[in-house]
Amino acid sequence: MGGTKLSVAIVGAGIGGMTAAATLQRIGIDVHVYEQATRFARVGAGIQMMPNSMKVLRRIGIEERLSRVAFKPYSHLNREGDTGNLMRELPMPESLFGAPYLCMHRAVLHEALASVIPEESIHLNRRLVGLQQRTGQITLTFADRTRARADAVIGADGVHSVVRELLIGPDAPIHKGRIAYRAIFSSALLGGKDVGPSRTKWWGVDRHIVIYYTTATRSELYFVTSVPEPAEWLTRESWSAKGDVKELRKAYEGFHPDARAVVEACPDCHKWAILEREPLPRWSDGRVVLLGDACHPMTPYMAQGGATAIEDAAILTRCLEEVEGDDIEGAFLRYEAHRKPRTSRIQAISSANTWMKGGDQDTSWLYGYDAWNVPLTATEPDVEIV
Ligand SMILES: Cc1cc2nc3c(=O)[nH]c(=O)nc-3n(C[C@H](O)[C@H](O)[C@H](O)COP(=O)(O)OP(=O)(O)OC[C@H]3O[C@@H](n4cnc5c(N)ncnc54)[C@H](O)[C@@H]3O)c2cc1C
Repeated sequence: MGGTKLSVAIVGAGIGGMTAAATLQRIGIDVHVYEQATRFARVGAGIQMMPNSMKVLRRIGIEERLSRVAFKPYSHLNREGDTGNLMRELPMPESLFGAPYLCMHRAVLHEALASVIPEESIHLNRRLVGLQQRTGQITLTFADRTRARADAVIGADGVHSVVRELLIGPDAPIHKGRIAYRAIFSSALLGGKDVGPSRTKWWGVDRHIVIYYTTATRSELYFVTSVPEPAEWLTRESWSAKGDVKELRKAYEGFHPDARAVVEACPDCHKWAILEREPLPRWSDGRVVLLGDACHPMTPYMAQGGATAIEDAAILTRCLEEVEGDDIEGAFLRYEAHRKPRTSRIQAISSANTWMKGGDQDTSWLYGYDAWNVPLTATEPDVEIV
């Protein structure tokens, strides 16, 4: 990068936006994050961080903090939903892919990311409504009529991204006709039962449930499902929508007693609509670029939505670090060229929901990926840039 300090505005303080803020500030970029929420609420959900994302978080300096409190599953375990027969098990010691596999409360991850970003760089209650690019400077306009300026903008504003809409035009994400129930609750409610040392996915014919602890002490338990939803159910603010536990329990009636015990024990649950998009024709326009769910939302079935957003942040940072002169646009194109083949591949497998269902396919291309060290050989994307 040239001598003057580049300023970057990030729209969205989710996992991707916060990681990008942490990685960009490490290379001396003046970063500001603009988030629509008025405060960081503790969303009741767990998250799996696979070795590919842990390698990025390690360089940010939060691996140790997370390792201390998170649950470290022995394996990625897949069982038949009714019989419990083993379909595929992949033990995940740290030595296998060079980083740990951790499961935690989402808030734990978010708080760890926030701990390495100066408070004054995060601006809450700023809902982006407009962007104007002019002579290398971009003006961001927020719903409260305030404005901000930056040399470049990263849209990390999630599956309903306004930045994406401003860049590509309006369209709706694909609703899979399925929902995810989720609940996080005290393991004591299981009455002494232990769900085992692994993260277990129980596969039914048209539904599944993933169960794991979220704390090192196994004090907290989490599950997330995928169930067909007959009615068109979709919500924009999907994190707080409540589900009906009776419906949830009914949906898993035919499952193995070990899986049923968990849905029986949960006191209440939330539900998400499962959304995805086809790969976008382009991820940037001039000095505005997309990251994470804003450009490659995927079904949660491979637990890679957050992980790929985290990888994006590292690769985008490397592309900006290598910028010659002020060719930010070129850096954004190189980032897209490098990232899109990988995220499109993950989106497709995740959509089909075949990952680790059986067989012995290679998993090293996914979990062994090291965003800090992978060669940045891809050049520009083969798409028309308008
Ligand atoms: C059921 C389920 C389970 C999952 N499990 C996993 C898992 O185990 N592991 C994993 O890696 N991934 C998982 N994911 C995927 C992961 O949650 C997402 O991919 C990840 O949160 C995407 O991060 P993001 O930063 O791109 O978007 P988000 O986390 O959605 O953040 C976007 C942010 O932008 C803000 N925003 C939106 N619009 C505006 C605006 N106009 N102005 C300002 N701010 C705005 C939002 O308030 C939000 O804070 C799961 C997803 C689901 C649905």
